[in-house]
Amino acid sequence: MTTDKSKEWLIILQNKGYRITKPMKIIVDILAKSDRLLNPTEVYLQAKNIYSKVGLVTVYRTMEKMEQADLIERVHMPDGCQSFFQSSNGHQHLMICTSCGKAHYFEGENLNQFFQSIGNKFGYSVNNHWLQLFGRCEECQKINKEQSMNSEDSL
Ligand SMILES: [Zn+2]
Ligand SMILES: [Zn+2]
Repeated sequence: MTTDKSKEWLIILQNKGYRITKPMKIIVDILAKSDRLLNPTEVYLQAKNIYSKVGLVTVYRTMEKMEQADLIERVHMPDGCQSFFQSSNGHQHLMICTSCGKAHYFEGENLNQFFQSIGNKFGYSVNNHWLQLFGRCEECQKINKEQSMNSEDSL
C-alpha cells in the first residue's frame, strides 16, 4: 500500500525528471512509511521481500535522489554508522532509539534561549544549532527488562 506521503514524494521525484520504476516506488514507499531510521541495506532487504527484482544499486541510487530532493536526511549515529530518516518540516530536532532506530522529531521552544546563554558565556552570537538525542525507546526498554528477567530465570 502506498501512503499519501509516498505519493507526494513520487510526484516530487517525477517533477525532478526521474523516471519512476516499480523498484523505485517500493523503495520510496518503505522510507515514507518508516518510523525508524533505515540504512540502504535494511531498505534493500525490505524491498526484496516485496519485489525480488529490486537491486542494491537501485536502492543506493534512489536514496541518493531522495536525499538530494530533501525527502530523507542522513543521520550520523554514535557508533559511526549512517542511517536515513524522513526529513523534518523546517527546523526540528531528532530523538533516536539506538536499539531499534525508532525516531521522532521534536521542536523544543526553549532551546534557542538556552543555546544563546551558552554563546553569551563565550562571547558568541549563536545563530544555528543541530541537535540529536540518543536513547532507548519504551519498547526496547521493556524488551531489555524481559531479557534480563529471563536470564535470571535460567541461572
Ligand atoms: Zn533547534
Ligand atoms: Zn527502540
